[in-house]
Amino acid sequence: PYDVLVIGGGPAGAAAAIYAARKGIRTGIVAERFGGQTLDTMAIENFVSVSQTEGPRFAADLERHVNDYEVDIVKSQRAAELVTETDDAGHLGVRLDSGPTLRGKTIVLATGARWRTMDVPGEDDYRNKGVTFCPHCDGPLFKGKPVAVIGGGNSGVEAAIDLAGLASHVTLIEYAGQLGADEVLQRKVRSLDNVDVILSARTTEVLGDGSKVTGLTYESRTDGAVGKLDVSGVFVQIGLLPNTEWLKESVAVTKHGEIEIDAAGLTNVPGVFAAGDCTTTPYKQIVVATGAGSTAALSAFDHLIRS
Ligand code: FAD
Repeated sequence: PYDVLVIGGGPAGAAAAIYAARKGIRTGIVAERFGGQTLDTMAIENFVSVSQTEGPRFAADLERHVNDYEVDIVKSQRAAELVTETDDAGHLGVRLDSGPTLRGKTIVLATGARWRTMDVPGEDDYRNKGVTFCPHCDGPLFKGKPVAVIGGGNSGVEAAIDLAGLASHVTLIEYAGQLGADEVLQRKVRSLDNVDVILSARTTEVLGDGSKVTGLTYESRTDGAVGKLDVSGVFVQIGLLPNTEWLKESVAVTKHGEIEIDAAGLTNVPGVFAAGDCTTTPYKQIVVATGAGSTAALSAFDHLIRS
């Protein structure tokens, strides 16, 4: 069995594996796609101390760093079940989709999240060419240009407010008849001169010139009228889905599926820790996920020396 078994090979999982291995304890990491969301990212300009890198390069650097240590990397494998009843030796388990169950004295859950997509023509074609999911990451790329934000919940309205300071103009499109964001955010967004809000509208297509986004079309849900916007960026903010379906009822999650953790990365199950975008952490960023991964691994080590 492993002393620390990490599930997930994104920034959080990689940091957890490195911190665990540096304690000289037996460490394993299971990753469906090593690198996680960073593989789908173009420019990364906010990983502190690295002015500029690209997602796939960052993912390769993560893996190289993990490989500096004695860590068993189990790639292209999906965890299918967390076994919280311990075996005779007191070990927890993770059953893989492919059959076998890996055992660990402690487990760090770091399976990340995925963005909900609009599923309209053009969205996939122009992903990272104007279609983006992260205002903190990509906002500065649209300085002085018109953009659209899709989704009027807290993240969409926060994104619109955030982008209003960078973009020349922001159009927020919401599917429902009213915004879902907190009242204070709604007041703020409506006070901004360069933000328009369109309610009861469905985005129908992302338009582009073959290499980048040039606009989008939408349809009114009240009278079917069709509209077109000329924008350089489309920020899709219709939900972040944590990859926690496989955990079923084994650990406590919120109604949004985020694993509930405390400041030290502890879940409600002794010996099980969690980190990164799959948890209740309020900010979903690489630098935040790596910090959380190291916290979870240090907590796992603390648990081991006390039990
Ligand atoms: P993830 O990166 O999601 O990694 C999860 C890992 O778990 C992956 O290895 C995945 O394969 C694995 N996994 C999932 N389910 C299972 C399973 N059942 N079994 C086994 N393995 C599993 N943040 C920034 O700070 N700067 C940026 O510029 C930036 N740009 C972004 C651009 C895009 C397009 C996106 C989508 C995100 C961006 N982010 C950026 C956010 C950042 O990528 C995430 O916050 C970060 O990757 C979270 O790390 P994580 O380790 O928690 O999860």
